[in-house]
Amino acid sequence: EKDNRSIHQALFTVESPNVEYTDTSILSRYTYRTTSIKKVGDGSNYIAVPHETVYNFKVSCGTPKVGVMLVGWGGNNGTTVTAGLIANRDGLTWETREGPRKANYYGSVVMASTIKLGTDVETHADVNIPFHRVLPMVHPNDLVVGGWDISSLDMARAMDRAAVLEPTLKAMVRKEMTGMKPLPSIYYPDFIAANQEDRADNVLNGTHACMAHVEQIRKDIRDFKAHNGLDKVIVLWTANTERYAEMVTGINDTADNLLRAIEEGHPEISPSTVFAVSCILEGAPFINGSPQNTFVPGAIELAERHGAFIGGDDFKSGQTKMKSALVDFLISAGIKLTSIASYNHLGNNDGKNLSSQAQFRSKEISKSNVVDDMVEANNMLYEKGEHPDHTVVIKYMPAVGDNKRALDEYYAEIFMGGHQTISIFNVCEDSLLASPLIIDLVLIAEMMTRIQWKRDDESDNEYKSFHSVLSVLSYMLKAPLTPPGTPVVNALAKQRAALTNIFRACVGLEPESDMTLEHKLF
Ligand code: NAD
Repeated sequence: EKDNRSIHQALFTVESPNVEYTDTSILSRYTYRTTSIKKVGDGSNYIAVPHETVYNFKVSCGTPKVGVMLVGWGGNNGTTVTAGLIANRDGLTWETREGPRKANYYGSVVMASTIKLGTDVETHADVNIPFHRVLPMVHPNDLVVGGWDISSLDMARAMDRAAVLEPTLKAMVRKEMTGMKPLPSIYYPDFIAANQEDRADNVLNGTHACMAHVEQIRKDIRDFKAHNGLDKVIVLWTANTERYAEMVTGINDTADNLLRAIEEGHPEISPSTVFAVSCILEGAPFINGSPQNTFVPGAIELAERHGAFIGGDDFKSGQTKMKSALVDFLISAGIKLTSIASYNHLGNNDGKNLSSQAQFRSKEISKSNVVDDMVEANNMLYEKGEHPDHTVVIKYMPAVGDNKRALDEYYAEIFMGGHQTISIFNVCEDSLLASPLIIDLVLIAEMMTRIQWKRDDESDNEYKSFHSVLSVLSYMLKAPLTPPGTPVVNALAKQRAALTNIFRACVGLEPESDMTLEHKLF
C-alpha cells in the first residue's frame, strides 16, 4: 500500500450475524446501549435503567469523485491546503535548511491517526488501523480543489502572499497553482474589516444580499461539478471572519423570512449566509470555518427543510484545541479551574482582519464558550451558574506572520486551598494547523452523506440521513453547531470518541470502551 495512492478496498471485514456486505453497501444492525435516569424522591436520588435502541445503518461504499470549493481560496488556509494536497498527491520531497521534507498529512485525524480495531486473538495485543480505513472514505489525494476569493491573485501568487510554505516546495507546485484562479465572490464591505478593502478586486456586482448572488454561486458549483466530472461538491468557508449579523425578527429568524430578506437585499444578511443558503439549495454540504453566526436560525431551518448538510463554526486548530483537552483533564481530575487568560498575537491577514473590533468580537464569542459543558458537568467543584473567569485577547503583530503565538495561563484551586498555575506558550504556523482540519472536515462531511440509518422496528422502515447539522464534526470546530435544542460537547476526548464510535457502529462494531478486561481478568 502506497500512501499517495487512493485506497478503496476494505482493510477488514466484520464477521457477525449483524453485518452484511452487498456490492454497493455495508449493512449493520447495531444495538445502541444507553442509561436512562429517573429522579426519585426530592430529585436528589436516581434510578438508572439500562436502555437499548436498535438501529440499522447502511454505508454506501462506492467512493465518489469529490470536489472541494473553498470560499476564501486565495487566503493563507486556502493556498496552503491546496499546495499540501498537490504535494501529497504527487508524493513531493523538497529541500529545507533542516534537510529534505516529504509531503504528509500530519494534523489530520482522518489521515494521520489510528483507532483500535480490536485485540489480536493470539497475542491479545491491540490491533490499530488508520482512521480512514474504518469506513470506505474518499482519499484526499483524489479531491479536486477550486473556489472563490474577492482577491483576483492566482493561487501561486496568493501562496507567495501567504508566506507560509518553503520556497523549494512552492517552486514544485507553482506551475499547477498558477493555472488556478479564484472565481469572483460576493463582497459586502460592512461585514469584514475595512483594512481588507484593498484586496477586493474580484467581486460580483452589488454590496447587499440578492437572489442573483445566490443563483451565481449555485451556478459556480454546478459548473465546477460538470467541468471536473464530479459526483459531489463540498463547500467550506475559510474566508475572513465576518462581524456578527444582527438577529432581526422577520429577517433571519425563519427559512422563509431569510429567503425573502435575501430577495429584498436586507443589509443584515452576510456573505457567508448567502453562501450557506446557496449550498443548501444546491444540495452541497457547507461548512463554516470562521466564527461568525453564518447559521442564523433561518439558515438552519432551510437546511433541515432541504435535508442538506451544514457544519460549523470556526476551525479548532491551536489554542482552543489545547484548551478543550486541558480543561477536560483538569476538571475530570477534580481540580477546580478558577481562571483562564488567553493571549494571542499573529501577523497574517487573519490577524489584520481581527484587529478590527467587530470581527474580533466574533472570535471572542467563539473562543469563550469552550469550557461550559465541562464546568457544568462537575457539580462537585462548581455551584450552578458558577464559571471560571475567562478572558481572550488577540493582537495583530505583522512581524510574526503566520507563526501565531498563543499564551495561556490556567489558574486552579487544589487541595486545601493551594493553587496550581499552568502557563502555556504555543507557537505554530496557523495555516499548517488549519489545513489538515479542512481536509478532515471535507472527508468526514462527505462520508456522512453516504451513511443512512433507520430504527429496527416496523414503524420506521425507511432509511434516512443523519440530521442536517453535522455535530459529528465537533472535534475540528471551536464552537460546534449542533441540531437545535441539543447539547454542545466541547471536551476533545468525547468529541473524538463520538466520531470513532459512530464510525464503528456503522460497521456493526461496539464502541471501544478501553476496559481491557482481557488483561485484567484471567
Ligand atoms: P486569510 O485572511 O489569509 O484568508 C481569507 C481569504 O478570504 C482572503 O484571501 C480574502 O481575500 C478572502 N475573502 C474575504 N471575504 C471573502 C468573500 N466574501 N468571498 C470570498 N473570499 C473572501 O485568512 P486565513 O488565515 O486563511 O483564515 C481564514 C479564516 O479561517 C479566518 O476567518 C480565520 O479566522 C479562520 N480560522 C483560521 C484558523 C487557523 O488556524 N488558520 C483557525 C480558526 C479559524
